Amino acid sequence: MILLDGKETARQVREELRQEVDVLSEKYGRKPGLAVILVGDDPASQVYVRNKERACEDCGIESIPHKISSATQHELEGLIQELNRDVKVDGILMQLPLPKGLDSQKCLDLIDPDKDVDGFHPVNVGKLSLGLPGFRPCTPAGVINLLKRYDLDPACKKAVVIGRSNIVGKPLAMMLSQSGPCANATVTLCHSRTADLAAECREADFIFAAVGLPKFVTGDMVKEGAVVVDVGINRTDEGLCGDVDFESVKAKAHAITPVPGGVGPMTIAQLMVNTVEAFKIHVGEK
Ligand code: NAD
Repeated sequence: MILLDGKETARQVREELRQEVDVLSEKYGRKPGLAVILVGDDPASQVYVRNKERACEDCGIESIPHKISSATQHELEGLIQELNRDVKVDGILMQLPLPKGLDSQKCLDLIDPDKDVDGFHPVNVGKLSLGLPGFRPCTPAGVINLLKRYDLDPACKKAVVIGRSNIVGKPLAMMLSQSGPCANATVTLCHSRTADLAAECREADFIFAAVGLPKFVTGDMVKEGAVVVDVGINRTDEGLCGDVDFESVKAKAHAITPVPGGVGPMTIAQLMVNTVEAFKIHVGEK
């Protein structure tokens, strides 16, 4: 059984990026800049933002924090427009969820698509669906990168993605089914209305769980030798756990991600990759 070590893989990605960023910063006289907007005091969001700031530091990216206790829709939109104009800002990340009363889609739509390092702007979603270059959402792109680094190619294999959210399930299903490296899978996208989820999973060579229910995928749902990627992060009384019941599934899987230490660190590493890509676009390197 192969443990897909996202923590170590993400460290390698950050290290490689650091070397590239050092050369680019020297050449262009400035570091890539990532503006991070955090509204409110959600503790989980604060942890995510802190981890992203640390990753920026590791990679030689300048983190430009905008932490505000509260904001009106109008104020938040004004801040996004200001960051769109700021030449030192290559990427804009708005930590979700926003506090109640703020319209996140309206804000996401305002972010300059060339600074949309989260890949949530409709232009980038459209580019993904057309198979055109553009920013890909960090979690699915991080998952694909993790598979690549372990030489686990889903080409010609059956893949089941559980969950159809706009930030994970849907883009991941699209990325896996496209042509290109570490793709070309035959994908089934399952969700809360799937008739027989366990039967779909038992057919799969690759399972990607993005459901948000602790230990939802159990050993009896998994084919012998499958690759199982657990995107879930659930806070329970017993601590953090994924959407996969690690103990029962690892007995059957060829490879599996742990939680924590699997997809989470890869997501943050991908945000760094996307920020450096944005920088290259802005300085004319790409
Ligand atoms: P979401 O709540 O937006 O979507 C969950 C999806 O699961 C829905 O599409 C729903 O149809 C499906 N679902 C719910 N119940 C189901 C059932 N009984 N059977 C089959 N499908 C069912 O969640 P999300 O934002 O996609 O996140 C999913 C999980 O991934 C969460 O635990 C979240 O915390 C985690 N997450 C992790 C990262 C990371 O970096 N590791 C990033 C984003 C999300």
